[in-house]
Amino acid sequence: MSAAASGLLELIGNTPLVRLNKVSKLTGCDIYGKAEFMNPGGSVKDRTALGIVRQAMRAGLLKSGGHVVEGTAGNTGIGLALVGNALGLHTMIVMPETQSQEKRDALRLFNADLKLVPAVPFADDNHYTKVAKRLAIEFQQHGNAIWANQFDNTANRDVHYQTTGQEIWDQTQGKIDAFCCAVGTGGTLAGVGSALRNHNPDVKVFLSDPMGASLYHFYTYGELQAKGSSVMEGIGQSRVTANLQGFVPDGAFQIPDEEAMAYVFDLLQEEGLALGGSSGINVAGAVHVAKKLGPGHTIVTILCDGAARYQSKLFNPDYLRDKGLPVPDWMY
Ligand code: PMP
Repeated sequence: MSAAASGLLELIGNTPLVRLNKVSKLTGCDIYGKAEFMNPGGSVKDRTALGIVRQAMRAGLLKSGGHVVEGTAGNTGIGLALVGNALGLHTMIVMPETQSQEKRDALRLFNADLKLVPAVPFADDNHYTKVAKRLAIEFQQHGNAIWANQFDNTANRDVHYQTTGQEIWDQTQGKIDAFCCAVGTGGTLAGVGSALRNHNPDVKVFLSDPMGASLYHFYTYGELQAKGSSVMEGIGQSRVTANLQGFVPDGAFQIPDEEAMAYVFDLLQEEGLALGGSSGINVAGAVHVAKKLGPGHTIVTILCDGAARYQSKLFNPDYLRDKGLPVPDWMY
C-alpha cells in the first residue's frame, strides 16, 4: 500500500496505462490507453487546470480568494472548479450551450459560476473564449484574477510535458514507438509528443482529428481547411494554438464519428472501458498508426474522459439516430 495522499491535488495525474486487448490483437501491435478518465475530475483536463493555476500562483498573479475565469467545452472547467475549491479560489466558466447536460451538472456540483453562451465560430466576438477573456479583464481590475486561456497559455503544454509524457515514458519503460491523440487545445499532443521525442527522437507522434477540424488538412497539405462535422466534444481545432506552435506531428489521420463510435462501443462491451467520444477518435487513430507502422509496435493513446459524461447523447439511441449514427443492437 502506498502512503495516503496529502489532499485532492495529489490525486491528479499518475494515471494507469491499460492494454487495449482487442485492437492490439487485431493489429498485432501493443496498443495502450492512458486512463485519464481516472483523474478526480474525470478527465485529462484536471492536469491542465492544476498546471495553469499553479503557474499563475507561482508568478504571483493569483492567490487564495481570487477568481479563475475560463472558456471551456466543460472538462477544463470541471478541473478548474475542483482545483479552485481545493485552493480557495472562485471559478467562473463560460461554456457553449451545445455541450452535454452532464458537464453542466458537474460544474454546478463543484459550485462553479456557469455562464452558457450560443456556439458561434471562433471569429465571432461572442465566441466562448472571447466572452471569458472579457469577463476576466473585468475581474482583473480588482486584481487577484486570471483568464486561464488554456488554448494559448503554454502552462497547459508544459504540464503534459512534465507529467503525462514522462509517465508514459516510465510506464512503457521507454519501449514506445508511437503516440497518437486528438487536439482540443493541443496541450496533450504537443506536451506528450515533445516529452517522448526528447527521450527518443525516433518516437513517432500522430494527430487523430475529428471531421470538421482543420488540423488534419494543415499537417497533411499545409493549409487550414475543414471538411464535414463531428458530435465529439472537447476536440476539433480550427487554428494553430500557441500550445501547438513549434510542434509538428509526423502525420495525421481524419476519423469520422461513425468509426470512432464503433471503438467506443466495442471498448465498453468487450473490455469494460466506458469512455467518451474523443477516446474513440484516439483509439481509431491508434489503429491507423498500427496499420501504418505494421505489427510488433507499441502505440500509446489517451482515454480522455468517461462515458457517463455523455450518457444523454452518445449512449442515447434517439440522439444517435438524430445524428445519423448507428445504434448498436444492445442499446435498444
Ligand atoms: N478529449 C476531451 C473529452 C477533452 O475535453 C479535451 C480537452 N478539450 C481533449 C480531448 C483534448 O485535449 P487537449 O486540450 O489537450 O488538446
